[in-house]
Amino acid sequence: MHEHLTPYDFNALSDDEFRLRFRAWLKEYYPEQWRQNDRRPYLRLVGEDLRACMLLLNEHGWRAPAWPREYGGMGLSFRKQWIYQQEWERAAGARIVEPGETHLGPTLFQYGTEEQKAAHLPRILRCDDLWVQGYSEPNAGSDLASLRTRAIREGDDFIVNGQKIWTTQASTSTHIFALVRTGQYEKKQQGITFLLIDLRAPGVSVRPIMNLAGDDELCEVFFDDVRVPVSDAVGAVDDGWQVAKSLLGHERLWLGSPAMANSAMHIATRLVKEIGLETDVGVTDRLAQLQCDLHDYRLLYTDICEDVANGAEVGPGASVLKVYISELLQRIVQFNAGIAAEYGAVIGDVQVGDLSTNLHWPFMWALPTTIYAGCNEVQRDILAKTVLKLPA
Ligand SMILES: Cc1cc2nc3c(=O)[nH]c(=O)nc-3n(C[C@H](O)[C@H](O)[C@H](O)COP(=O)(O)OP(=O)(O)OC[C@H]3O[C@@H](n4cnc5c(N)ncnc54)[C@H](O)[C@@H]3O)c2cc1C
Repeated sequence: MHEHLTPYDFNALSDDEFRLRFRAWLKEYYPEQWRQNDRRPYLRLVGEDLRACMLLLNEHGWRAPAWPREYGGMGLSFRKQWIYQQEWERAAGARIVEPGETHLGPTLFQYGTEEQKAAHLPRILRCDDLWVQGYSEPNAGSDLASLRTRAIREGDDFIVNGQKIWTTQASTSTHIFALVRTGQYEKKQQGITFLLIDLRAPGVSVRPIMNLAGDDELCEVFFDDVRVPVSDAVGAVDDGWQVAKSLLGHERLWLGSPAMANSAMHIATRLVKEIGLETDVGVTDRLAQLQCDLHDYRLLYTDICEDVANGAEVGPGASVLKVYISELLQRIVQFNAGIAAEYGAVIGDVQVGDLSTNLHWPFMWALPTTIYAGCNEVQRDILAKTVLKLPA
């Protein structure tokens, strides 16, 4: 730990001091190859790169901004977490999907036994283990409680059989926290257990799925008579729905970050110039509309984060963030592909005038943003019922 860079209590620093300190660290220590650029606007780190990046943050005291200090995190107030996020995006830091930090850690703080916390939290921070989220199944996505992966008790173990799907980064990770069915009750949300499983255990197999963007980080995970100690259930057996539900919170706010749309807009503005469409009123009209929508959205996002920084709860209204920004992102990348003429159909990097970019990859990556983390239709349902109080 570099004491000169990272005093133990970051909350004792003023917001500006904290901001400048993290900015300076990112400038000096964050490697260039992990920064997003015009060719990889939503660059995401996986496998060894992800591990190395998390280790670097950990060694320098910048890991796990939301974790309490007693568990080895930075213990930042919400406002400082927001500043952390802003500086990370300002430095074009890669997108990080690390469910060990964002999901499992907070679950263990709330529901884990002392043994589970001691066994797993330090290993998450050091990246000895990389965790993935095993919820979705072939017939249980939006309707998650229909999941059918079964865990049957045999002595001190569960025997797990079934299948998960769309498990991000399962082929490059070591562990999965999974929801499995352990009992049958009247309500299908009951009888589900939150289980920690080693992906290298006998009977587990992982099969990557190639997506339209050409990446294979989404996977299927199969369980064939996998033996898992009962002591690896988090929270009460049959009560995993409650455990899984408690994960929502500030995560929903970070999902609403305008960062991806900002990068797409940067490309849009450059493309219009490089292709020579600056005097085409039809094109500039549409660009202006997108810019106005993005500007409005940034104000909304700032307002909601400001409220939370001042102590407000993250209410169901935050669902509007994810819905709006994912659809706006799609509109921007569609605009980019549409005005780019022959470049819009190229798979791979393209050189448009002075702009070296990639139009296909961001286009394909924007497609699932309306599906993951609760599809937009379901989010709209939540807004209709809980915010607008419309009849069911
Ligand atoms: C990029 C990506 C990464 C993912 N990573 C993970 C992961 O790491 N771990 C994991 O467990 N899962 C992951 N998922 C899975 C994700 O959670 C599911 O895709 C999502 O819950 C939707 O479920 P589904 O795919 O079964 O689609 P379905 O639930 O079948 O929904 C398909 C479509 O049907 C419509 N629909 C469904 N329900 C309703 C409703 N109630 N009202 C109106 N319309 C509805 C919507 O149009 C929806 O888009 C990932 C998905 C994607 C795309």
